[in-house]
Amino acid sequence: MEFGQFNVNALMEITQRPDLVFIRGQGSWLEDHAGKRYLDFVQGWAVNCLGHCPPEIVKAVEAQSRLLLNPSPAFYNLPSIELATRLTEASCFDRVFFANSGAEANEGAIKLARKWGQVHKQGAFKIITFNHSFHGRTLATMSASGKPGWSTIFAPQVDGFPKAELNDLASVEALIDDQTVGIMLEPVQGEGGVIPATAEFLQNLRKLADARKLLLMVDEVQTGMGRTGTMFAYEQAGIRPDIMTLGKGIGGGAPLAALLAREEVCVFKHGDQGGTYNGNPLMTAIGVAVFDTLAAPGFLEGVRERAEHLSQGLARLAGKWGMPGERGNGLLRALVMDREDGPAIVERARTLEPDGLLLNAPRGNLLRFMPALNVGKDEIDQMLERLDGIIATLRK
Ligand SMILES: *Cc1c(COP(=O)(O)O)cnc(C)c1O
Repeated sequence: MEFGQFNVNALMEITQRPDLVFIRGQGSWLEDHAGKRYLDFVQGWAVNCLGHCPPEIVKAVEAQSRLLLNPSPAFYNLPSIELATRLTEASCFDRVFFANSGAEANEGAIKLARKWGQVHKQGAFKIITFNHSFHGRTLATMSASGKPGWSTIFAPQVDGFPKAELNDLASVEALIDDQTVGIMLEPVQGEGGVIPATAEFLQNLRKLADARKLLLMVDEVQTGMGRTGTMFAYEQAGIRPDIMTLGKGIGGGAPLAALLAREEVCVFKHGDQGGTYNGNPLMTAIGVAVFDTLAAPGFLEGVRERAEHLSQGLARLAGKWGMPGERGNGLLRALVMDREDGPAIVERARTLEPDGLLLNAPRGNLLRFMPALNVGKDEIDQMLERLDGIIATLRK
C-alpha cells in the first residue's frame, strides 16, 4: 500500500491501519503527517497515562540516557530499586520483577504460580481464568485469555487454563480440582468490553482462594497505575491479592511492565526467570517519573473528578439517544449503545475535519474511553460534543 510519500509495504501486515502516519503528540492531542490534529481518547490503548510526550517523561529519558542505559539485569541499577520500592510501598506486595510488556509480566505470573504449585501444592498447575478476559499475545497468555476464537488459532494451546464466568462464584468453584493452583482475573475486563468484577465477587474469590489454598492473581495491566481512580483497582474491593501484574500506564507509553508478589509467593530459584531488558534503568527511570506524578498529592483525586465528569457526560448522551447506558471504573469507561454502529462512529470520528477524534470500539455496540489521566475537563466536553454530533449525523 502507498499513500502520500509513504510506502508501508516493509511493515508486516498485522492489522487494518488508516492511511495516516502520526508524527508528534502533546497531551491529549496527536498530529499526523499532513498536520491534521486528533483529540485522543485511546492514548495507545490506555498506555499514555500522562498523555503524549509529558515533560516528566522527557526529562527522565534525557537525564537517564546520559547516565546509564543497561548494565544487564545481572547487576543492580538505581532506578529499578527506586521504582520497586515505590511500588511495594504503595501496594500489599513485597517484591517486584520488571518486564517489558503486559504479556511478559503475565507470563512471569503464570510461571511463578506454577513454581509455587510445585513447591507447595504437589505440582498443581491449573490457573482458572475467565471468559472474555485478555491477558496478552504470547502462547501462554493467549491460552489464559478468554477471547472467542483464540483457543484454536495457534493450536495446540498451553494447557491448564479452565475458564469461568466473571462475577459467578459457583462457576469458579466448579472448576477447582487438586491440580488447581490459582485464579487470575482483570479487576475490570478491558478488552472484553469494560466489564467490572464486583467488589463482592473479588472478596468472595479471596475467601475461596484462602479456603482452597489457591493464589489470587490480578492482571492490572490496564486497570493499574491510577486508571480506575486509585493507584490499583484491587484496593477498591479491600482485598489483598497474592500476585499482581502491571503494564501499560506504568511506563506512560514506554515499554515497561511489572510482576509483583507477596513474600510467601516469591519462590523463583536463580535461573528460573530473567530477560535481557528486564528492569533496565532507562525504562525504570521513566517508571519512577510516572509513579511520582501519579502519587503527587491531589492527582488521583483529580482522576476521580474527571472520571465522574466523563461518566455523567456519557450517561447524558445515553439518555438522549435512548442507549442502554455507560459503565466502567475511573477513566476506563464504555458507552453501551443500542445498535452496532461502533465501528462507523470510530471511522467518522477519525475523519472529522478540521480536527479528528480517536475513539475505540472493542465491540460493535460499545465505545471504550481511555483518555490520559490528566485529560482536561474541556477536552472531555469537546469529545462529548463531537460524539453527540457524530451520533446525530449517523442517525439522521
Ligand atoms: C494490554 C493488556 C495485556 C497485554 O499487555 P501487552 O503490553 O500488550 O503485552 C494484558 N492484560 C491486560 C488486562 C491488558 O489490558
